[in-house]
Amino acid sequence: MNLSLEGRTYVVMGVANKRSIAWGIAQALDKAGARLIFTYARERSGSNIKKLAETLENKNSLFYQCDVASDEDIEKTFSAIKEDAGVIHGLAHCIAFAKTEELGGEFIKTTRDGFLLAQNISAYSLTAVAKAARESMSEGGSIITLTYLGGERVVRNYNVMGAAKASLEASVKYLANDLGKDGIRVNAISAGPIKTVSAKGISDFNSVIKMIEEKSPLRRPVDQEDVGNTALFLMSDLSKGITGENLHVDSGYHIIGM
Ligand code: NAD
Repeated sequence: MNLSLEGRTYVVMGVANKRSIAWGIAQALDKAGARLIFTYARERSGSNIKKLAETLENKNSLFYQCDVASDEDIEKTFSAIKEDAGVIHGLAHCIAFAKTEELGGEFIKTTRDGFLLAQNISAYSLTAVAKAARESMSEGGSIITLTYLGGERVVRNYNVMGAAKASLEASVKYLANDLGKDGIRVNAISAGPIKTVSAKGISDFNSVIKMIEEKSPLRRPVDQEDVGNTALFLMSDLSKGITGENLHVDSGYHIIGM
């Protein structure tokens, strides 16, 4: 058994630009021989992805616009994927969104709208896309999502997104239980802080990175490649006994007490 994904097709959702964690995942899957299908929220991300995809080893990628806030978009996208690509073997959900003004200060000030928005895009969307992707995963496979320690513990300024990640992590377990009988595994990667467009929205993000450099067992922040390689493991048969798991790729920071 090895890490080859030759002959397999994976959907990668959430590449906005070359700093996106989803792009680190796409590169790792591509190197292992996978065919990739990209979905993006806005046209601008679409043109970025198409340019980035020219640098991949496999030149047979497909691209679809899909706003995960829309059930109609999800249904349309996954029917098109079924029609154009046939069977898919996995999906990487790398999507989150919250209002910038709710990613700082006191959590108690979170608005109803802001709370529901973060839950909708960052948590519920996993269930919605898993349901749609299941239709094309007739050979079984692997679904992964990205979470953060702020879903398990209080991390200053993470606030509304912490509540969304807690919901996402619970969804991973329920989805793993539902989809296990179809041979589909569902896992989360809890990534350490990485400088991306989304991360820029969190107040004082640089001090979180500094903390990792000072306190984590490995004394360095993780990067897109670290997460990409773990995603490759979770997509491959090497992890075939693992489901419902939340795998921390954070230089070990989550084990530190004080
Ligand atoms: P990113 O900004 O590159 O990616 C976020 C993606 O979400 C973008 O591509 C954006 O277009 C997409 N998105 C937002 N709303 C959408 C919608 N309605 N429909 C479809 N797509 C939508 O940032 P990233 O840091 O690579 O984030 C990817 C995932 O990793 C997120 O779930 C994030 O919470 C998680 N994560 C990030 C870090 C970090 O420090 N960067 C750490 C742990 C987990």
